[in-house]
Amino acid sequence: MYSSIESIAPAQLDFDLIRKYSISGPRYTSYPSATQFTTDLASLKLDEAIDADNQPGSGPLSLYFHLPFCETRCWFCGCTTVITLNHAAAGDYIEGLAKEVALIAPRLDRHRKVNQVHLGGGTPTFFPPDDLRRLGALIHANFDIAPGAEFSVEIDPRRLTREHVAALAEIGANRASLGVQDTDPRVQLAIHRYQPHALNRQAFQWLREFGFGSINVDLIQGLPLQNTESFGRTVEDVLGLQPDRLSVFSYAHVPWLKPAQKILEDQGLPRPEEKLSMYAIAHAKLTAAGYVDIGLDHFARPDDALAQAQAAGALHRNFQGYSTHAGASLYGFGLSAISSTPDTYRQNHRTLPAWRAAVDAGQLPYDRGLRLNPEDVRRRTIVMRIMCDRRLDYASLSREIGVDFAATYAPELASLSDLEADGIVRRTAGGFEVTAVGSPLLRVVAMRFDAYYRPAAQRHAQAI
Ligand code: SF4
Repeated sequence: MYSSIESIAPAQLDFDLIRKYSISGPRYTSYPSATQFTTDLASLKLDEAIDADNQPGSGPLSLYFHLPFCETRCWFCGCTTVITLNHAAAGDYIEGLAKEVALIAPRLDRHRKVNQVHLGGGTPTFFPPDDLRRLGALIHANFDIAPGAEFSVEIDPRRLTREHVAALAEIGANRASLGVQDTDPRVQLAIHRYQPHALNRQAFQWLREFGFGSINVDLIQGLPLQNTESFGRTVEDVLGLQPDRLSVFSYAHVPWLKPAQKILEDQGLPRPEEKLSMYAIAHAKLTAAGYVDIGLDHFARPDDALAQAQAAGALHRNFQGYSTHAGASLYGFGLSAISSTPDTYRQNHRTLPAWRAAVDAGQLPYDRGLRLNPEDVRRRTIVMRIMCDRRLDYASLSREIGVDFAATYAPELASLSDLEADGIVRRTAGGFEVTAVGSPLLRVVAMRFDAYYRPAAQRHAQAI
């Protein structure tokens, strides 16, 4: 039993600082963040960006397939989902995906190799195994998957059979991310996601049996009925599975976007102090077990590719979070999927009827997006280097963005003075670095270089 959050805080967590700077803000899976996407598409010429992105010599590709169906709704969920018990919906959805792929694949440079595939959801294993095989056939028939490509899939252990895992391995999946959230049955009932830990163990056993090399577990702190002691047990339960990576997300309460989350308010959400204490216990247990703090709630074993990429300064960030792959254009398929080229983002319709009507009509199914101007591209580099490297070297950054960084961004650098005084950033010979104490506040540092961030004007979940 822990008496206070300070008593369990590892040396590098300073609760006063975290409280002081815990403002809401983006997670920077993109820059500018998705809140800047516009539906005023006429002038953006996003279709033309696909052709511009596919000139000879273009870089590798990353593919994302959004599989939105779930049998039941978890009250905390922030994803774009379609709740149904009708598994035949999967077959119909694949027909829609095939139409969307047919609109895009012929426009891609056929020499481009795919180095990353991600099946996200929703619940990908809502799809019966034979539908997963059909999806795999669609992918392999239309894209050139590089040998050793990272092919990951989100797994709900409640909706998984050995036959699902066999089908996923057959189509080339080699990485998995398990939604666990919390192993306490009381919490699970409160969030409408009952998931006995035996299901998690079984999922791990099957995935290891079929050679999945890297398995991630997602946990969430900040849910009803959680407390430091119970969440500490959850972390220990999950450590018993020996995952390669863990994400300990802070629950993002955004009921103005996800009305079902209001149900959780009736059950009592933990106070910010309690959330901090849960983050602290997770951080302490994971680092004591040898996991490396990658940044922004992510942890990895030292021998995992993510930890090795960070050590080598080769970590990247995209819509799926931290990644080891640089410079890939992302082509997303399915409702709500986001695509990106070097200077555009576009997001598909977020309802099934609208997405399906567009692909049936032979139109690219997006309804919002953004074209980045050269300043956006420079700031994206700056923000992503902070989020991935936790440090900036002004000389190399100046070479990368083509302007004198220190002179051009002097006002932003001056704005770091309070963070410097509080020990969150430290000036170095040729730049600055985020300190160990500042690590939980990484995105607060990045926000200082975000030209669009207006605290009062935008609604995001809290930074912690
Ligand atoms: S299973 Fe996943 S995607 Fe579906 S409702 Fe639950 S959290 Fe959301």
